[in-house]
Amino acid sequence: MLTTIDRAIGCMLGGAGGDSLGAAVEFISHAEILKRYGPNGVQDLQPAFRLPPGVITDDTQQAHAVAEGLILSALDGNSTESIRGRVWNELKRWHLTQSDPRENRSPGGTSMGSLSGQRSGTLKDPLNNSDSCGSVMRVHPVGIAFAGKPDEAFRIGMEVSVLTHGGSEAVTAGGAMAALISSLCDGSTLDEGLAVMRLLINRIGRSTLPITTSVLDLPVGANERRNMDNIGSGWDADDALAMGIYAARCFPTDYLEGVRFAVNHSGDSDSTGSMAGAILGATLGPGAVPRQWRDCLEGRATLTRVARALVP
Ligand SMILES: [Mg+2]
Repeated sequence: MLTTIDRAIGCMLGGAGGDSLGAAVEFISHAEILKRYGPNGVQDLQPAFRLPPGVITDDTQQAHAVAEGLILSALDGNSTESIRGRVWNELKRWHLTQSDPRENRSPGGTSMGSLSGQRSGTLKDPLNNSDSCGSVMRVHPVGIAFAGKPDEAFRIGMEVSVLTHGGSEAVTAGGAMAALISSLCDGSTLDEGLAVMRLLINRIGRSTLPITTSVLDLPVGANERRNMDNIGSGWDADDALAMGIYAARCFPTDYLEGVRFAVNHSGDSDSTGSMAGAILGATLGPGAVPRQWRDCLEGRATLTRVARALVP
């Protein structure tokens, strides 16, 4: 029987593992992936950014920053303003590290642009209209911090997203991902978590996140590769979340096959891998992540520490 702490650690390490698997193939086509890594595509962690296998990208770096902000805000009462301020400060701290070539892992343009300014975005006064996936790829720690409170996770996931991303799909996807992780960390099955997430998305409006909501009913078990290619490329928040969810739905009991499926395409492989990995890690616990991956993931001790500290 998995505890919430098990699920939290699974979520953080699982997300990092998917991110790391996708790191080497983020900017290459599916055809090129097959040429380089064989007919099944990339199967195991690879060197990237001139660093050894296990290297993480900006997705996990920012998720870590969000986690640190949430841990601090829990100490002062977890008000929305405290969360926004603390997470913004930690993201700004991360932004400063990006001038160091050893820390720079191809960060997304929207986050970098927003974090170079002095003011954070709000729901009433967003900084831009970007719908890129930089919002949703970093919010799984919100789901851990609000485990078992998907409504609250949804709301805070949106607040954490709009700090840098002002597009309505980017903001809502951040809320949806946080709500899903919240349910999973409380012991819900994947199907149960997705059902709650769908209700919360519908509460925002039926035209919201059309791609994510469409994959909830997409068949699994046949034509999965073709279905995945038809979903999109993962550069935007809605299709990235949809691809992460679809990969998890196709391999609900197999972390490794789920993240492999999530990264082997022509799009934003590390972000879709990170999201599939966070979802499957929260569902299956850290034992589902291969031991050799857990032993070499960059920042694994820190990610484990913050996962424990995030659990309410
Ligand atoms: Mg990345």
